[in-house]
Amino acid sequence: MNNSNSFNRLIEELKKLPGVGQKTAQRFAFFLLKMPADDAKAIARAVIDMKDKSKFCTVCNNITEEDPCWICRDANRDRSKILVVEEPSALYTIERTGGYKGLYHVMLGAISPLDGIGPEDIKVEGLMKRVEKNGVEEVILAMDPDMAGEATTMYLTRLIKPIGINVTRIAYGIPVGSDIEYADELTLVKSLEGRRGL
Ligand SMILES: [Zn+2]
Repeated sequence: MNNSNSFNRLIEELKKLPGVGQKTAQRFAFFLLKMPADDAKAIARAVIDMKDKSKFCTVCNNITEEDPCWICRDANRDRSKILVVEEPSALYTIERTGGYKGLYHVMLGAISPLDGIGPEDIKVEGLMKRVEKNGVEEVILAMDPDMAGEATTMYLTRLIKPIGINVTRIAYGIPVGSDIEYADELTLVKSLEGRRGL
C-alpha cells in the first residue's frame, strides 16, 4: 500500500495517542472507514473544536473554555481550601460527588524520578503562588495511591508545611461496601495509617 494515502496517514496519526500501536491504530482506522461519513466527521470536528476552544485554566490548570475556569470564578466556593489532584479527570470525579466546596489545583502529572519527571515538570510553581497568598488555610493532597503520587505528596508537604499552612491528605483504604478480609495487604496498611480518632 502507498504510505502517503489517507488511510495510512490516519493510522500514523492515531499511533501518536498513548497506548495505541500499529494494530489498534489499524482497527480504529478500519472502524472509522466503515462508519457513516457524518459520524466519522463528527469525531474529526470534535477534535478540531476542542483544540480551538478548550485550554487549561491559568489559575488551577482545570480544562476550561473560559479562563479562569468556572470553579475558580465561583464566588460561593470556600477559598481557604485547595485540593490538589494529578489530572483534571480526578477533579471531575471529586466534583461529581458534590462533597467538596473548596478550590482545586491540578498538577498535570506527578513526580516520578524513574520516568525522569521532576518537580519542575509539574505545576508546583503555580500552586506555591496561590498558597503564599493570604487566605489559604488548608491544602488537601489527593494524589493517586502509587509511587509517583507518594513522591509528590512528600515533596509538596515539605514545601508547604513550613509556610504555616495546614497540609492534609485524603485517606486511602478499604472501599465502602466491601469486606476487610478481601482487602490486599497494602490497602490494609494504608487504612491503618490513615485511622482517625472517634
Ligand atoms: Zn480554575
